[in-house]
Amino acid sequence: METLKKSDPEIAAQLDNELRRQRTKLELIASENIVSKAVLEAQGSVLTNKYAEGYPGKRYYGGCEFVDEVETLAIERAKKLFGAEYANVQPHSGAQANMAVFFALLQPGDTVMGMNLTDGGHLTHGSPVNMSGKYFNIVPYGVTKETETIDYDALEKQAEECQPKLIVAGASAYARVIDFPRLSEIAKKVGAYLMVDIAHIAGLVAAGEHPSPIPYADVVTTTTHKTLRGPRGGMILCRDAEFGKQFNKAVFPGIQGGPLMHVIAAKAVALGEALRPEFKEYAKQLKKNAKALADTLSADGFRIVSGGTDNHLMLVDLTSKGITGKEAQFVLDEVNITANRNTIPFEPLSPFVTSGIRLGSPALTTRGFKEEDMVEVGNIIAMVLSDPQNEDVKAAARKRVAALCEKYPLYE
Ligand code: PLP
Repeated sequence: METLKKSDPEIAAQLDNELRRQRTKLELIASENIVSKAVLEAQGSVLTNKYAEGYPGKRYYGGCEFVDEVETLAIERAKKLFGAEYANVQPHSGAQANMAVFFALLQPGDTVMGMNLTDGGHLTHGSPVNMSGKYFNIVPYGVTKETETIDYDALEKQAEECQPKLIVAGASAYARVIDFPRLSEIAKKVGAYLMVDIAHIAGLVAAGEHPSPIPYADVVTTTTHKTLRGPRGGMILCRDAEFGKQFNKAVFPGIQGGPLMHVIAAKAVALGEALRPEFKEYAKQLKKNAKALADTLSADGFRIVSGGTDNHLMLVDLTSKGITGKEAQFVLDEVNITANRNTIPFEPLSPFVTSGIRLGSPALTTRGFKEEDMVEVGNIIAMVLSDPQNEDVKAAARKRVAALCEKYPLYE
C-alpha cells in the first residue's frame, strides 16, 4: 500500500478505514466472507492489464499464453470441486451468470418459474424490476404458510398449469435444504429445464455439507464470493459438457466482453483452497455456527423463520419484539454488528422497512469463531434488540463485540 499511499492518499485512507471496519466489527451479512491473502494477491495482480476475449486456446488477442494457463486451472479446479463436466469461470458476477443462462436457453416472452423475492428468491430469478422479470413471463413460487419451506406440491401444480420452459431454484434467504431430486422430477414432468443457483450455498455444496444439484440440474450457476470464499464473481457449471458448450457463447460474446483475468486468477486460487481438507472443516463449522446462533436467539425469545437453519444463514422475525428490520439493522450497526434487514415470508411491511433481519455465519467462521462465540454473538444481539433505546446496554454490547474482535484478529 506504500505506493498507493503516496500516489492517491484519499483512496488509500478509505482502504485503511475499510480494513479497520472489517477488523473491529462483527460481519453477519450472510452473503459476505473474508478471502485469504493469496486470493487478494491474485486479484490485485498484473493480470488486470490483460485483454483475453474468447476462451483458452481460442482468443481474439495475442499474448494470452499465461492467462490461458490461469483460466484452464480455474476451469479444471471448478470441475473437480463440484464434480461437473463443464465450467465457465468468466461471468463477472452471479447476476451475469444467471443472465447468460437465460440468454442461452430462452427467448423473450418465455415462461419461467422462480422463487418469490419475499420468500427468499433472488432479484435475477424474475423480479419485475430485474431484466429477468421484464423480458420473461414469470410465474413465481414460494413457501407454505405453515412450515415456511418450499411448497413443492404447489410448485408442481403451478408448473403443470403454466408449462414453463425453465424452472429456477436457489435462493438468497432460505435456510433449509433444497430438494433437488424433487425439482428435477417436476421439471422433467413438464419438459422444463432446471437451473439451480447455488450462489449462497456453493461452499457447502463443494464440501458435501449440502446435497449437490449437479446430478439433477441441467445447469448450475453460482457466485464465488459467498460461502465459497473467493473473489466477487460468478460461474456456470454443468453435468453434461456437450450441453454446457452453449453457455460459453452466451457469456462471450453473448453478454460480456473481455474476461477479468485477475479475478479469474483469484477464483482459481479460491477453488484450490476449497479443494483442501481444511475447507471441509470450514463448511462443517459454518453450519454448526449458524445453528448455535439460531438456537441462542430462539432461546432468547426470537422467532426464527421455518424454526431454524440447515445451512449458513437464518431469517429472524422481529415482529414479536416490536422492532422493524430497518431499525434492527441500524441499532446493530451502533454496536458494531453488521447485518441486513430482510423481508420474511408473507411480509406485511415494505422491502425497505421489513419485519426481519438475515444473519449468516460465513465471515465469522473464517475469522475462527466457534459455537461458544456464536452463543455470545447471539446474546449480544438479543440484549440490544430487546432494549434498543438503552445507551448503557449499547455501551456494554460494544465492549463485548470488541473483545470478540480482539480474540479473532483479521489479516494480521
Ligand atoms: N443469485 C443469488 C441466489 C444471490 O444471492 C446473489 C447475490 O446475492 C446473486 C445471484 C447475484 O450475485 P451478484 O451480486 O454477484 O450479481
